[in-house]
Amino acid sequence: MFGLEKRQRERLRAEPFPSEWLLVLERNAPFYRRLPGPDQRELQGHIRVIVAEKNFEGCGGLEMTDEIRVTIAAHAALLLLHRDTDYYPKLRSIVVYPAAFVVNHTEVVEEGGFTVEGPEARLGESWHHGAVVLSWDDVSAGARNFHDGYNVVLHEFAHQLDQEDGSVDGVPPLDDSSGYRTWRRLLEDEYRELREAVALGESTMLDQYGATHPAEFFAVATEAFFEKPVQLSATHPALYEELKKFYRQDPRQWLGYAWAR
Ligand SMILES: [Zn+2]
Repeated sequence: MFGLEKRQRERLRAEPFPSEWLLVLERNAPFYRRLPGPDQRELQGHIRVIVAEKNFEGCGGLEMTDEIRVTIAAHAALLLLHRDTDYYPKLRSIVVYPAAFVVNHTEVVEEGGFTVEGPEARLGESWHHGAVVLSWDDVSAGARNFHDGYNVVLHEFAHQLDQEDGSVDGVPPLDDSSGYRTWRRLLEDEYRELREAVALGESTMLDQYGATHPAEFFAVATEAFFEKPVQLSATHPALYEELKKFYRQDPRQWLGYAWAR
């Protein structure tokens, strides 16, 4: 990170947060008001940097607005709390369509070595280098319901964290080598377990889309971690603990903050 960039970011984070943006958070980021005060301020600063640095593009007739920028940035920022972050360094553009879009091609993802085949409707897509593609319909629906375990923005930005180390494999950059060993072992076990349950037609707490690839498992587990923390920690305690370590927060505590108000 260059010194100039660092100073610019510090300046951005120190600027007052626009009151219209606060209204957007109230409306479209229900987790915001449950965060403790220092976390709210940290989140605001991260939102300012993301909105300033990333190129938000409306596609398919969608007109880009601050509501869309702030809603997406707030969810992306939630994944960055409490860490020394470089703000998704590989991500340049966030492309937003009005409704779910269709991928009509076959794409080979080099690092992951697997193929995504079309045509298939996708809610959001993080495999393109340097871009996250989202549909505003799904972003806003997922954002307003923060309890159903589905959140396409958290999902796609979890993929972004995953690929920061150059490979899309369900293993994001971790602090130390023992962290990698633990995470890989846990990911292997949990992923296998989910695949077996899906093969047997059993119902699962985690979204079964997570059984399609280890990277999808990590993204789906991230959605559950933030949206269904109590259920996830009850049914997958070891997974919950690892995610708590990785995300440096415990969303179960938000319930307490909500009651305290
Ligand atoms: Zn995915």
